[in-house]
Amino acid sequence: MQSQSPSPHSEPLQLQWQAGFAALGSAFYTQLRPTPLPSPYWVGHSESVAQLLGLPEQWQHAPDALTAFSGSTLLAGSEPLASVYSGHQFGVWAGQLGDGRAILLGETADGQEIQLKGAGRTPYSRMGDGRAVLRSSIREFLCSEAMHALGIPTSRALCITGSPAPVYREEAETAAVVTRIAPSFIRFGHFEHFSANGMEAELRQLADYVIDRYYPGCRTETRFGSNPYAALLHEVSERTARLMAQWQAVGFCHGVMNTDNMSILGLTVDYGPFQFLDAFVPGHICNHSDTQGRYAYNRQPNIAYWNLFCLAQALMPLIQDQELALAALEPYKTAFPTAFMHEMRRKLGLTAAREGDAELIDGLLQLLARNAVDYTIFWRRLSHAVGNGLFEPVRDLFADRAAWDAWLLSYSELLALEDKALAAKTMLNTNPKFVLRNHLGEQAIQAAKLGDYSVLATLQRVLESPFEEHPDHEALADFPPDWASSISISCSS
Ligand code: AMP
Ligand code: MG
Repeated sequence: MQSQSPSPHSEPLQLQWQAGFAALGSAFYTQLRPTPLPSPYWVGHSESVAQLLGLPEQWQHAPDALTAFSGSTLLAGSEPLASVYSGHQFGVWAGQLGDGRAILLGETADGQEIQLKGAGRTPYSRMGDGRAVLRSSIREFLCSEAMHALGIPTSRALCITGSPAPVYREEAETAAVVTRIAPSFIRFGHFEHFSANGMEAELRQLADYVIDRYYPGCRTETRFGSNPYAALLHEVSERTARLMAQWQAVGFCHGVMNTDNMSILGLTVDYGPFQFLDAFVPGHICNHSDTQGRYAYNRQPNIAYWNLFCLAQALMPLIQDQELALAALEPYKTAFPTAFMHEMRRKLGLTAAREGDAELIDGLLQLLARNAVDYTIFWRRLSHAVGNGLFEPVRDLFADRAAWDAWLLSYSELLALEDKALAAKTMLNTNPKFVLRNHLGEQAIQAAKLGDYSVLATLQRVLESPFEEHPDHEALADFPPDWASSISISCSS
């Protein structure tokens, strides 16, 4: 006789855990519990992340799901902690920071760390309240899943829970918690912390942990003087270079590239005042608090290098040899442009590096900037045009038609060497129709504030397959409305 399987609604969630970061010991964190939020409710969730975590179907209906992911109860076996790190903020050493509002629930046996962001105060909260508002939580949740669907390395987000608890920013808002996951949330700032405090044993322990878990090849790497820490620096530089190339190619501005927001795994983490470009404005500053434009779109690749330099300095007690450290960093200067050219060629449907392609790409970016062309719409229209031969909709985007015609002529020469159908196919799978523009996020936020989560769910569904046409959702692929430019996104979250 078949045994009756328990109803998925009646059993608490069961995750298998492993020690992971917690095994590093008490110098690296403080154990603590999340602070409960009153009357939690569901705002959104990602089925693909639930699957990644091996959660059962209907997991949201488990008796402890809502309370666990809003921080009132603990998942069975979880030993939560907040980690300590330091960092450079806006180019200035900021000293100790740490998980001021994110609490690590643990690492699953499959190697995913699970954090609750906005789960209450920790010893690292400084002046903060340990909370996150619904607005910024929706932005982080949506962007994590959108970036993943674009093929860009990122932390992921399982769900958002909300609460009527008031949180005070420029005005009173309400609290929310994002459950986010990544193989590791270790940042450059973790290394800076132990280095700056002269804690060499802990610095070494951390580096060994990261190498053994995520970069085992560094142990056998013979370049860089067979120094595994220099090899680590090199690997992180390579990953960061590729990440920057992907950000630049899709038009993503992070907004707060402080060293404490730089992932040691080369993931996009800590979504704050980010923005996808509307018009192509190379000097665009998405963060209202960034008065100097330190983190402007076109400065991101250089800032990443600056941040890698901070990581190199932090690793010096382990690398010891300055020349080795520089040799490990130096390849970034070619890795980034190489990766960027690779991305741009794909966007243009060009399968091979050819004479003249660098000028072609450079010329195009200048043309897009001079004409303030909508970046996403341009690439999508170009992708269709290559497929059907009708370039008029692309031409319409330019005020300077003659300059466009001249550029198209040189592009056509390179395109003539490609299989057009294949090029168009590649381009449609490279140039998304949908990105999380600020005004789209804003619409989802405004509806959610009124208790309607359907706008968020629809936007999420479309962003989960951004290369599909979704003919019922043309409006989500349209130019931004006039009011979009008045949205002010700051560090306040
Ligand atoms: P961020 O700019 O969001 O990456 O945060 C920088 C630092 O400030 C990190 O150490 C955060 O944990 C901390 N932080 C930001 N907001 C809050 C908050 N509301 N409460 C406590 N800590 C916070
Ligand atoms: Mg941060």
